[in-house]
Formats: sequence, structure tokens, C-alpha cells
Amino acid sequence: MSDVLNFDETCLFCKIIKGDIPSAKVYEDALCYAFRDINPQAPTHILVVPKAHIRSVAEISANNEALVGHMFTVIAKIAREEGLEEGGYRVVSNCGPDACQSVPHLHFHILGGAKMAEGMA
Ligand code: AMP
Ligand code: ZN
Repeated sequence: MSDVLNFDETCLFCKIIKGDIPSAKVYEDALCYAFRDINPQAPTHILVVPKAHIRSVAEISANNEALVGHMFTVIAKIAREEGLEEGGYRVVSNCGPDACQSVPHLHFHILGGAKMAEGMA
């Protein structure tokens, strides 16, 4: 967990985690933070981010795999608490330009609350 304390002053999500930019918080613990997406693409659309500034899935390694595993435990807990478990939900992480990643701080989208179209996984 060597990058737990990483922080990037220019990063939007680092500023949200720090509280410098407001967000609709859903969950927080020592390692991660979750908040509602400002431009929801589903009735429930939540972003789960590590407090450490990890740029994307491409930076996941043995150094932070426990953190990422923890984030998935948190994702399942949030989905349960948001009432998404029965209907199901999608977890997405866009990595890099071809995937249209727009914020270079690792985040998992939790999308649910309505039947989705098939395609794009
Ligand atoms: P991505 O395009 O996968 O990098 O996802 C970035 C997400 O961050 C998008 O779904 C945006 O709507 C969302 N977003 C951008 N700015 C904010 C903000 N200030 N508060 C909440 N969500 C945001
Ligand atoms: Zn960041």
C-alpha cells in the first residue's frame, strides 16, 4: 500500500476527496471515497475512488492490489445499500483515451436502477 498517501494537487478527484470541491458523498473510509456522478448515466450512478492518486487500471499492481480488492468489497456494499443487488448493476472503469477516460484518477462507476442495453460488455 505504498501509494496510499499519494495526492495530486491538479487532480479533480483528489480535490473532491480532500473536500475542496463539493460532492454528494455516499461512503468513505480510510482508503476510498464514493460519491454520486454529477452527470448520471443511470438512475443510480456512483463513483468509487481510492484516496491515493492512482491514475487508472493501468497502474494497478502488487503495490495496490489489496486496496483495489477492498474497493470491490465497498462496491458490493454500496450496491446492496442502494438497493441494486436484486435487479443487478454494472461496474465500469474506463482506462485511457480509447475508453474515453476523462478524469485521470482511478474510479469505478457503479451503474444501476434500470435495465441496460446490451453491448459494450
Ligand atoms: P470517466 O469518463 O470514466 O473518466 O468518468 C469520469 C466521471 O466523472 C464522469 O462520469 C463525470 O460525469 C464525472 N464527474 C466529473 N466531474 C464530477 C464532479 N465534480 N462530481 C461528480 N462527478 C463528476
Ligand atoms: Zn487524483
